[in-house]
Amino acid sequence: TNAYIAAVEAARPLNAFITETPDIALEQAKASDARYAAGTNLPLDGMPLGIKDLFCTKGVLTTAASHILDGFKPEYESTITENLFRDGAVMLGKLNLDEFAMGSANITSYYGPVLNPWTGKDPAGADRKLVPGGSSGGSAASVSGRFAIAATGTDTGGSIRQPASFTGIVGLKPTYGRCSRWGTIAFASSLDQAGPMTRTVRDAALMLQSMAGFDPKDSTSVDMKVPDLLAAMTGDIRGLRVGIPKEYRVDGMPVEIERVWSQGIEWLKAAGATPVEVSLPHTKYALATYYVVAPAECSSNLARYDGVRFGLRVEGKDLAEMYENTRGEGFGKEVRRRILIGTYVLSAGYYDAYYLKAQKVRARIAEDFTKAFEQCDILLTPTAPSTAFAIGEKQDDPIAMYLNDVFTVPASLAGLPGMSVPAGLASDGLPLGLQLIGRPFDEETLLRVADVIE
Ligand code: GLN
Repeated sequence: TNAYIAAVEAARPLNAFITETPDIALEQAKASDARYAAGTNLPLDGMPLGIKDLFCTKGVLTTAASHILDGFKPEYESTITENLFRDGAVMLGKLNLDEFAMGSANITSYYGPVLNPWTGKDPAGADRKLVPGGSSGGSAASVSGRFAIAATGTDTGGSIRQPASFTGIVGLKPTYGRCSRWGTIAFASSLDQAGPMTRTVRDAALMLQSMAGFDPKDSTSVDMKVPDLLAAMTGDIRGLRVGIPKEYRVDGMPVEIERVWSQGIEWLKAAGATPVEVSLPHTKYALATYYVVAPAECSSNLARYDGVRFGLRVEGKDLAEMYENTRGEGFGKEVRRRILIGTYVLSAGYYDAYYLKAQKVRARIAEDFTKAFEQCDILLTPTAPSTAFAIGEKQDDPIAMYLNDVFTVPASLAGLPGMSVPAGLASDGLPLGLQLIGRPFDEETLLRVADVIE
């Protein structure tokens, strides 16, 4: 833990942590030592983790990377962090993210952008600073840069998987309902899921084992036994049918991404699996659907930040003006854009045309997956349409930014488990990930196949 605390300090230029908690870490590590001495050690004893600053941690500043939560110290612990601490994990601090987890590059944080520990080269050969992906950018950077052994992430439309791909680590978004959302600051409640971001597939299994499980405090958490995830990693995928969705061969996909995808298919074939082409015909509507549903839910969830109950308050001449001033100053540009879109698509005159329609398309997208899983046991796709891009790129173009999520949002809309596994380097020398999508609550097959790819 001491070594990691020093590594966190040395990595400050990457801006991955919003709050460092070395005192808490040392106290937890001491308790782990005592358990070791007594021979009563727990599964995660002494593991120094970074916690995405979207998880409420009792008495520790929790910001969601937003100005509006200035000074907010929760009175309660999120179920996810409680589960991790119950099993002996150590908290190094709270990790930077896109404001309220809205973004794909970790550039919307009130606390500034996070840098990817991987750097690129510009045409003149000089170092190019890259984004780590988002929204779990601090989580991805801390694991990739080796200043946390693992980190928690959250994924609404790709925020665990895409940054994992951009930084060369493993990221797992469990089935919706596998992990409790209690005490995790909400973005889009019907999509949000917590999951592990780790160096290895084994670590992901180990960490998810602690995070997952039924929680009576979250009505959408599912009362189902969590299987032994480490035991699922048998190394044997003979006879497994791997679906290759043809609609994911999008126009203009870089050859690099194609190459990694084909290579992934070859690896699985060599291990005895059978690739089958499948069709997910509504894929082309997924991005548009997501960017109606997620802002709609965000506009509703973020209504609670009014200057009265949490964090920042900017006074005004009356109550309405205080609300206006607080929200106008407290929320960044991207969050305000989402609240506007969400309020619009939910408004009386447009509800049927946008929100209701999006819900219908969402059902079709989920049906596509159900049908595909009649022909295969797991799906293999690229995680993201590119490697990490430079800081500043796509910054003023929200649509270009939203396009990053083209491969990750369909599984989110369908509530399915998805995972990004490192699959080597592109010709620009940067990491690329492959995405696995599984049947509901079949994280075991994800881990088993990911282990073979790794
Ligand atoms: N990039 C997507 C968005 O901006 C997904 C974010 C997430 O999964 N939290 O909404």
